Amino acid sequence: IRLTRADLDALPNYVPGRSPADLARELGIPEAIKLASNEVPYGPLPGVVEAIAEAAAGAHRYPDMGVVALHSALAERYGVTPDRIVTGCGSVALAEHLVRATCLPGDEVVYSWRSFEAYPIVVATSGATSVPVPNLPDHGHDLAAMAAAVTDRTRMVVVCNPNNPTGTFLRRPELERFLDAVPDDVLVVLDEAYREFVTDPEVPDGLGYADRPNVAVLRTLSKAWGLAGLRVGVMVAQPAVAAAVRKVVTPFSINLLAQAAARAALDQADEVERRCALIVAERDRVTEALRAFLPDIPTSQGNFVWLPLGDRAVAFAKACEARGVIIRPFPGEGVRMTIGTPAENDAFLAIAEAELA
Ligand code: PMP
Repeated sequence: IRLTRADLDALPNYVPGRSPADLARELGIPEAIKLASNEVPYGPLPGVVEAIAEAAAGAHRYPDMGVVALHSALAERYGVTPDRIVTGCGSVALAEHLVRATCLPGDEVVYSWRSFEAYPIVVATSGATSVPVPNLPDHGHDLAAMAAAVTDRTRMVVVCNPNNPTGTFLRRPELERFLDAVPDDVLVVLDEAYREFVTDPEVPDGLGYADRPNVAVLRTLSKAWGLAGLRVGVMVAQPAVAAAVRKVVTPFSINLLAQAAARAALDQADEVERRCALIVAERDRVTEALRAFLPDIPTSQGNFVWLPLGDRAVAFAKACEARGVIIRPFPGEGVRMTIGTPAENDAFLAIAEAELA
């Protein structure tokens, strides 16, 4: 008998990569260095662990299903009313909710490719159809081709800015031209998971477009806010879009500890800014160092750097692992390394120089 959907058999799994503990054990070293998931290396923000411990005393009760206190803090931070905020179990869950809220089976979702590996998965599992549009030779979105790929069946277009895994970014005029070109009845999702690491003033803040009726902005507390382990993603859109997404949200997706931690983290905006400045300085240092022998490294506005190694990607990632450093390979295309502490970045650069220079 077949209990499961045949159309999902060929779908790749979302693989988070090797466990640092397993690798350390295998190599017989105290600790592996994980530069694979675009996390920030500094530990939870001040006050977060205490807030979690305090909230844990109420763990026998359900959390606030309306997430009222957190939504109000997020609304204040993003300068909108709380009816325009939806939270989910990571922004990856919100991306999936958006497909479910907008698409019937066979409806199309346009996105650039290579981009965030969860897009094809959430589109397919929701019964919609992916329309991947190849990136430009500079590894960035081809917005003209993406606009041209919109058909009568298109319900959603995803723009990832800066793009994971290439770090490439869109500037204000090109993004605005694109938003104007997409029909009003197609939802444009601006995935800004890495917004806090953007330093180029020409890269627009997607929240500036969230007043448009067909725009939804995705943010996350997993990266700059240091809460990857607690799973808090945020969507900002017009109230009508927010209401539609709320209908498909799994009840109680933001658990008690996550709500408490997120509220404590949001009180630490200055510390987040300080940490992001350190990461950005390291990102630019690593980029420059790599360009000495890999001139094609694209300029990144995220907390990661893309090495377009093509067929050498898997071998290089293996060489890194053999020396206790985990990065993310994309077979046949390249590798993505997440910016860590200066010492971690130096460990990576030493391997890169030995293997690739
Ligand atoms: N969007 C992009 C572009 C990402 O890179 C990621 C995480 N890798 C996410 C969304 C999802 O992050 P989370 O589910 O942790 O919020």
